Amino acid sequence: MPRPIQAHIDLSALEHNLQVARRATSARIMAVIKAAAYGHGLLHSAGALKAADGFALLDIRDAVQLRENGFRQVILLLEGAFTPDDLPLVDEYDLACVIHSPHQIAMLDSYPRRGGLSVWLKVNSGMNRLGFAPSDVCAVMEKLKSHPAVRDITLMTHFSHADEASGVAAQLEVFNAVAAPYRVARSLANSAALLRYPATHADWVRPGIMLYGASPFAHGSGEQHTAQQLGLKPVMTLQSRIISVRKIGVGERIGYGGVFRAEAPMRVGVVACGYADGYPRHAPSGTPVLVEGRRTGILGRVSMDMLSVDLSTLSTAEVGSRVTLWGEGMPVEEVAQAAGTISYELLCALTARVPVVV
Ligand SMILES: *Cc1c(COP(=O)(O)O)cnc(C)c1O
Repeated sequence: MPRPIQAHIDLSALEHNLQVARRATSARIMAVIKAAAYGHGLLHSAGALKAADGFALLDIRDAVQLRENGFRQVILLLEGAFTPDDLPLVDEYDLACVIHSPHQIAMLDSYPRRGGLSVWLKVNSGMNRLGFAPSDVCAVMEKLKSHPAVRDITLMTHFSHADEASGVAAQLEVFNAVAAPYRVARSLANSAALLRYPATHADWVRPGIMLYGASPFAHGSGEQHTAQQLGLKPVMTLQSRIISVRKIGVGERIGYGGVFRAEAPMRVGVVACGYADGYPRHAPSGTPVLVEGRRTGILGRVSMDMLSVDLSTLSTAEVGSRVTLWGEGMPVEEVAQAAGTISYELLCALTARVPVVV
């Protein structure tokens, strides 16, 4: 028998979460499937999201793979071309391309073909990561509008705080002022903005995390903040089993560094899941986990291939008992919060050795 760890991917939950997005907006939906669909697997996820109007990702090889598998939607390269050799592929496979920096305009200038490319001009409205300064957008727009390689233009921006109390107001104002003179399509919203700020929906929304059934909002922010309250269903459930059980006495310690010390006699289970599977090594004792559907916590340091859980109150748990690290019944956001990170990082971190069951 192989190690008992598996990641179950519930494709019907992906379809459901896309419907939640549909009901929340009349804009076209560009499903963000970067990082192998946030760790869920590119092709089966795209298949479950086939009702989306477009797909956004980073790697041109993934974009080509989608086209070769028959996807006809808009496919947007979120970071655009990295080198001039990307452009013939962009053209051949009819990919839309973000333009965020002057060197990408220079690539277009030296690209010989005329009139083929669909470009998404990215405006830096305050995140200061990618995009043109608002004061440069006018000149860039004039150049692109008459550029021989460009077929059509969409204006886009990305929010830095849509999931937090400070919200999108400042960036929305900057973007709207910059975009006002142009009659082109616009795209602003990530999952958090889609769910909370209808004024950002414009022509295309770009949800990612919500499609995978996790809430973009930090624990306790706003009234409707958990995935369940938002009507989202978890797509990935990471499960394994107990492979060893022991009793320890007062003062005994568990795992590397002995960072956990028992204050009372305890029953401890060892789970076949470690940081080499993508479980965060920095998750502290007490990080929640389900054993046979009941909630308990991890104990001591996570090792490469194993972690320990408290079975003191779970007298029926034994070798072979099922453990849910996150997913159905154990929101990934809660595990992430306990480990000092976000659901995105946990989902994307699933490693190649974990069998994926669709
Ligand atoms: C990743 C990404 C998104 C999706 O963000 P979520 O918070 O996962 O909804 C949208 N737009 C851009 C530009 C992105 O890079």
